[in-house]
Amino acid sequence: MVVRAAVAAAQVVVAVVSRALVVAKADLAVVAERVRDAGPAVDKAGLASANPMAAITIAIASGKGGTGKTTVAANLVLSVANAQYIDCDVEAPNGHLFLHPELGVREDVGVLIPHIDPALCTLCGDCADACEFNALALSRERVLVFPELCHACGVCSYVCPQAGAITEVSRTIGTLELGEVRNGIDGPVRFAQGTLNVGETGSVPLIKAVKQRAETDRVRILDAPAGTACPMVETVQDADYCLLVTEPTPFGLNDLELAVGVTRLLGVPCGVVLNRCDIGDEAVADYCRAEGIPVLMEIPFERTLAQAYAQGIPWVEADPSSRARFQTLYEAIQEAARG
Ligand code: SF4
Ligand code: SF4
Repeated sequence: MVVRAAVAAAQVVVAVVSRALVVAKADLAVVAERVRDAGPAVDKAGLASANPMAAITIAIASGKGGTGKTTVAANLVLSVANAQYIDCDVEAPNGHLFLHPELGVREDVGVLIPHIDPALCTLCGDCADACEFNALALSRERVLVFPELCHACGVCSYVCPQAGAITEVSRTIGTLELGEVRNGIDGPVRFAQGTLNVGETGSVPLIKAVKQRAETDRVRILDAPAGTACPMVETVQDADYCLLVTEPTPFGLNDLELAVGVTRLLGVPCGVVLNRCDIGDEAVADYCRAEGIPVLMEIPFERTLAQAYAQGIPWVEADPSSRARFQTLYEAIQEAARG
């Protein structure tokens, strides 16, 4: 029993690692093809880089929602040459409301969950015991599977002693869409977004699938989910730089501190954009100064900006002179990210 448990534990580790990238088979094929075509240079996302100097990944995140994260991401991508916008906020993707992309590709994204053959299952219960997420339950007659609780880790398949009793089937959790934004600064901006199906609780596999569509010779702007939970971590962890958008309020400061803590744990350098900078207090600025975090841009609280936002018009289009500010922001990020 001890030996079997040890073997099972080793298999569990292999299974979890091998599931780190749970993507549709088509996605894996595309990534493999890109890696083959692009030569040996490999960036932090694990993808080959055709032009390492141009290939930078910038995650735009915020500790709390509603700070203007998508506004900054959308305007930045419209101000940078050769860029790609990747909406990783899959539970509420809204970059398309400002960028108005023409979408040409739509694919389902699935995760592998267990299917149990009652003819082969001996009702030993090992799979249910091994499942950390209570997605399996042993009844007197069969093993019940609760798909919404399954994290697609594959552990149950590895611990099952009956060959063929557990097979894995794909379950769709959301969609991936690809397209182009016509009004980029030097041509179309490439666009990718994921949309999690209503009722799904696990967004990380979909975020992984969307990130797999990052184009390695472009400036990649990742619009991260708000907060500091797993979806934010998944988005930010392999970025070259994380831009944290906040506002000068007590809530903004509290959640900024949490977000800075996450980026430091991940080893991703960060800077701050202070939105609605002329309201609130000085606490965020004081915190950034004390922590040595650069405030790279300040955005005032202006009615004209709010009106453009409400109409789905990016700031750089409502006020073209603002584009220079985002270009300066990008140059500062480049410099900071490359040390
Ligand atoms: S049911 Fe899902 S979460 Fe549970 S062990 Fe199997 S694959 Fe993992
Ligand atoms: S581990 Fe395999 S044989 Fe045992 S209850 Fe689960 S599916 Fe059935």
